[in-house]
Amino acid sequence: LWQDIVAASTPKLPDGTVDVWLKTCVPLSMEDEVILLDVANDFIKVQIQNRFQKILEDTMKDLGYGKGLKLNVGTGDNRKEQERAERTIKPESQGKVSGLNPNYLFSSFVVGKSNRLAHAASLAVAESPGAAYNPLFIWGGVGLGKTHLMHAIGHHALQNDRNLKVGYVSSEKFTNELITSIKNNRTAEFRARYRTMDLLLIDDIQFLAGKESTQEEFFHTFNSLHDGKKQIVLSSDRPPKDIKSIEDRLVSRFEWGLVTDIQSPDYETRIAILTKKAEFRNYPMPEDVINYLAQNVPSNIRELEGALNRVIACAELNSEPVTVENTSEWLKDIVRHTSKGPVSIDLIQQIVAEECSFTVEDLTSSKRTSEIALARQIAMFICRKHTESSLQQIGSAFNKKDHTTVLHAQKKIEQLLLDNARVKGIVDNVESKL
Ligand code: ADP
Ligand code: MG
Repeated sequence: LWQDIVAASTPKLPDGTVDVWLKTCVPLSMEDEVILLDVANDFIKVQIQNRFQKILEDTMKDLGYGKGLKLNVGTGDNRKEQERAERTIKPESQGKVSGLNPNYLFSSFVVGKSNRLAHAASLAVAESPGAAYNPLFIWGGVGLGKTHLMHAIGHHALQNDRNLKVGYVSSEKFTNELITSIKNNRTAEFRARYRTMDLLLIDDIQFLAGKESTQEEFFHTFNSLHDGKKQIVLSSDRPPKDIKSIEDRLVSRFEWGLVTDIQSPDYETRIAILTKKAEFRNYPMPEDVINYLAQNVPSNIRELEGALNRVIACAELNSEPVTVENTSEWLKDIVRHTSKGPVSIDLIQQIVAEECSFTVEDLTSSKRTSEIALARQIAMFICRKHTESSLQQIGSAFNKKDHTTVLHAQKKIEQLLLDNARVKGIVDNVESKL
């Protein structure tokens, strides 16, 4: 458990944190969702409290492992001392220079309909940095695998060429480093570092919005790398054009290479992800529990993973079997919480089908009876309103070749909503269930 938390926090922590500070900590117990951590001395305790505890706790919550950490200085338990000594010596093997999370690999990434293109593009870029698509711009909602793919690109490229200079940063970290470098009169170093990368991965670029001087600096970094045929990979929670308060010249550069998106995973992909994660944890998970999770945590992979982790943790801590009944009890709050999260086209189709007494197959078929056509248009309208999917994506989810069908549906339902109470009723009901 603790190792997972540390691994998942590593990219968010300053370089070296794990080696210097965290390797010496020993988890003792977990009570009321709080992990008790044994630390060697008061100095380390204060450092961790002030600098890393919040990040670690956030990761814990993200993973569904509980809510907090409590630090305790030296229990004098010899076995723990021994363990601690071993951990301190063990070298950090991977990901130190480039800030890559060792768990985020292509081999641990499950490919499905929702992420196939983003995955293929990432692999192409990792195989031949600077040559395939430059920049590669990956966008999609939170927890759908953007960061995972970016790290995977880094690992893969490094595997092919160990001398490659690979750098992964969040745009926030990029901004902070820039600010610090300006304060300390070290901008030359900052530039030298970023402008000599072979592969630069900048995550969550939407946070550059409104930060003009960072954008200016990034603009030059971008040009210098791109001119030198060095690979740039960017991620964002929305497509380039929709990032507000970002200079046009940057937006247009973001679109130079390939813009690809990741959608919420469909049911089959959710099952595949859960199965893979359970295998990875070496934890036998009954099929009906996997199905239950895939059904009830519908949108975001981070939450899906958090739910799985929670189930494993609860089963271990309570020494109870993993059954659907126990799972639903353990996940009471998560399930309620995620139902408010981002909405998938799949979910909308399911709910509309239910509401109109059709099947999802009816909605996605080419049947044209007026009732089915209306239900289909309502579903398309709701997809437009409640998802960030493009017309093409919605169209293809309904097996329509021509995305103007979606546009037409949207206009028609907007019209009907003005004076057709039945349509309004259906839309309201569906929306309340999303
Ligand atoms: P984002 O950066 O889009 O918010 P992350 O890359 O942080 O999302 O992914 C959230 C979690 O879900 C991570 O633990 C990641 O490993 C996992 N994840 C996302 N997509 C997949 C996938 N296709 N296969 C396996 N794990 C995935
Ligand atoms: Mg991310």
